[in-house]
Amino acid sequence: MTEEVKRVYAFGKDADGKNVTEGNTNMKSVLGGKGANLAEMANIGLPVPPGFTISCQTCMEYSDAGNTWPDGALDTIHEYRVDLENRIGKKIGDPSDPLLVSVRSGAPISMPGMMDTVLNLGLNDESINGLIAQTENPRFAWDSYRRFIQMFSNVVMGLDGDLFENALNAAKNVRGVKSDTELTADDLQELVETFKGIFSDNVDAAQYPALTQQGVAAFPQDPMVQLKLAIEAVFGSWDNPRAVLYRKQNKIANDMGTAVNVQCMVFGNKGETSATGVAFTRNPANGEKEFYGDYLVNAQGEDVVAGIRNTSPIADLKKTPGLEEAGEELEEVFCTLENHFRDMCDIEFTIEQGKLFMLQTRVGKRTAAAALRIAIEMEKEGLCSKEEAVLRVDPDQLDQLLHPQFDKDAEFDVLAQGLNASPGAAVGEAVFSSADAVAAAEAGRKCVLVRWETNPDDLAGMIAAEGILTSHGGKTSHAAVIARGMGAPCVCGVDTLKIDAEKKQAAVTGTDVVIKEGDMISLDGTTGVVVLGAVNMVMPELTGDLDTILEWADEFRTMGVRANADNPEDAELSRSFGAEGIGLCRTEHMFLGERKQIIQSFILNDDAETRDAALADLLAAQTGDFLGMFKAQDGLPVIVRLLDPPLHEFLESPRALDVEIAHMEEQGAPADDIAAKRRLMAQIDAMSEANPMLGLRGCRLAILFPELASMQVRAIATAAAELKKQGLDPHPEIMIPLVSLESEIEQLRAECEQVVSQVAREQGMELEIPIGTMIELPRAAVIADRIAEHADFFSFGTNDLTQTTFGFSRDDVEARFIPRYLERHLLPCNPFETVDDGVAELVRMGCEKGRSANPAITLGVCGEHGGDPDSVKKFHKIGLSYVSCSPYRVPLARLAAAQAALADK
Ligand code: ADP
Ligand code: MG
Ligand code: MG
Repeated sequence: MTEEVKRVYAFGKDADGKNVTEGNTNMKSVLGGKGANLAEMANIGLPVPPGFTISCQTCMEYSDAGNTWPDGALDTIHEYRVDLENRIGKKIGDPSDPLLVSVRSGAPISMPGMMDTVLNLGLNDESINGLIAQTENPRFAWDSYRRFIQMFSNVVMGLDGDLFENALNAAKNVRGVKSDTELTADDLQELVETFKGIFSDNVDAAQYPALTQQGVAAFPQDPMVQLKLAIEAVFGSWDNPRAVLYRKQNKIANDMGTAVNVQCMVFGNKGETSATGVAFTRNPANGEKEFYGDYLVNAQGEDVVAGIRNTSPIADLKKTPGLEEAGEELEEVFCTLENHFRDMCDIEFTIEQGKLFMLQTRVGKRTAAAALRIAIEMEKEGLCSKEEAVLRVDPDQLDQLLHPQFDKDAEFDVLAQGLNASPGAAVGEAVFSSADAVAAAEAGRKCVLVRWETNPDDLAGMIAAEGILTSHGGKTSHAAVIARGMGAPCVCGVDTLKIDAEKKQAAVTGTDVVIKEGDMISLDGTTGVVVLGAVNMVMPELTGDLDTILEWADEFRTMGVRANADNPEDAELSRSFGAEGIGLCRTEHMFLGERKQIIQSFILNDDAETRDAALADLLAAQTGDFLGMFKAQDGLPVIVRLLDPPLHEFLESPRALDVEIAHMEEQGAPADDIAAKRRLMAQIDAMSEANPMLGLRGCRLAILFPELASMQVRAIATAAAELKKQGLDPHPEIMIPLVSLESEIEQLRAECEQVVSQVAREQGMELEIPIGTMIELPRAAVIADRIAEHADFFSFGTNDLTQTTFGFSRDDVEARFIPRYLERHLLPCNPFETVDDGVAELVRMGCEKGRSANPAITLGVCGEHGGDPDSVKKFHKIGLSYVSCSPYRVPLARLAAAQAALADK
């Protein structure tokens, strides 16, 4: 029976050497990344062991139906399996010459090491004899069988991998050997029996009646049973906890499913002319144009990544006797792949008795520094255009470059040196398990995760830790790959580190140092250095490759990028990052410290004299602030927002006062003093609001305390006049917050203009200061045309607009229930991180209406969303003239804005 939906796709050659591949690299959503690129490699003539791919959609159907196969799917798989056997001329399970296959997961978006793969499937107590006869290599055959039982038990049956590792170690101890490769065929044959015993002892017979005889589960001998169970297990691995966590971390959708690739085995464990390895066509840590990777002779599959034996660098391959030709060919393949994909590729290969086979390729993950360098160099090499180079750098990833580094002037002793696997420095207390890392992070303590090598179960701890340190594994080990992906600093392969995870300590060979749990350590993933104690860290400067890419980005972007900054230092910093002015200068931050006293005496006093004195003090202080700000931004716009927060933020907390009064009473303080405190408390109490966020704040303050607003406007105008006199070119703008009524802006604008013209008259000069408003309430967005008649600019305050559109109080909901909403898919993402579509629609409406009434109006965004790449893309679509974000996110916004513009083309 053939079905209507196509579920299975062949790849590789047929018996006559003809390419019968049905897929290609563009079919990742159907074939998964691995399947699509196996097809692509076969199509461009690279040596790919033949096989077939079962679609991701089949996985989702199977899983959605409660792990039941869609009608006909198993028949189709059967047809393709028979076809594969015909193409190879061998049958799975054939006792005289068995075909062995791997069953490999592969999702549309790469999730390295998160899902499962089974190798050597098809071996059983009979076919093992065929394998021995065909290869005349009993050691290899038994090694393959014991690996198969081990992987099948772990991946398909869910048994603890350590059960088998321990048995393997025990066998090595009995033989007195160190390495797996020193075990003989007889040892391995014995191990196969031991492994089968472990299987029977640990598999729940009741759960697997089909595998059970006389109440005992036995390792399945029927290859078709093996195959079906393995495919089902790979489907199931889409939903294993670590894959789910990884998707959450990387914002990958949960509804794609994984494909399953069933592929003929090739063997890297057939002796000294066989090998297996992983490689990158360029250095993924720093982007240098060099072949990069590791290989192991006489090994299979995960051996390289698992750090079981020490690997050799890929450059040695063509110098290794028996592997010279394969090594040369591999380098040609690197070039073919780079030219074909026009990007840096990551590769898995196996050499079987001198013959090279390609098992996987994809566009390789890289650090931010490498991404920049590779994009720039590939543009120079003609492999990509400037536009593509700009599109290739992930703005989120740029954050990595802003990671701290060891202070160059810091003095420290190097305790140990390992491989510089993922850049950036980290300081924290040593912890020796993933669980301890999570516990430390939850308790608010910074930690460094120290492991022999990490495995996918360590993911939660790796996320929780500041940095990762391992004693084994190379630069393509699990720890290194995952850390680079997360942007976490990582030093790996520190072989002087002798870790005792049980005792939670590590001795350092050649020293008398024993690192204990809780000891502070520092590591530098850029250099591979490990230090005992905390080294001072600094932020890096932005130069070189980042500047080049950002300059290119500036050529393409049409949206401006400004910064949110409240002081001259941040303003200067943002300017050095390429900000074109200040989109939001929050004045409330200028009222902290000792100035809090001044504003308190204004708010709390009724007599005019005290109030005037307070205002005069504030005026002097604010004028000084603005002089600094406008000077740092000479020639660029600076939008100053009038006082915005609820007034009580400047007052003592009633609770603290309560405590203080109780204290005074206990100590027998003078009655007058106590009475004064009580009056203060009563005053503050009278001002308290049930919902301060929706209370007396924003422009409502300027309506109730017009003197405060006038003072601020006077300070702005005076500072501008002063700088003009010095021959500078200040461009202040005045922003009135939280407007919802046309009349609010109309009246307040008139008052502001009056003060400005008064200052202009006093100073004897013209002062041109645009006045605009924040659009941060739904009502304002809806009547934006009427508001625009009184505004020179709008700045969308998308934080408050999100709060008021949803009726979410950010401080309450973000901690309490947004995570739950995300888990239950009620929200696609946190609306305070990436602007929500409903809120974006209000912004769009506000822009449209604003422009219709006032074509000259300037439109921007100053919420935190201005620094979020996904939001920046939405704002570009809406047609805003600029986004404004925190200084450190300016580079990222420039890049995201360019990518948005390029996506439009
Ligand atoms: P992952 O997605 O975790 O990388 P893979 O499916 O790529 O898992 O399998 C891991 C490793 O197993 C591969 O890198 C390769 O070394 C080995 N492997 C998979 N399929 C085969 C095969 N058909 N022949 C030989 N080795 C294989
Ligand atoms: Mg792989
Ligand atoms: Mg606001």
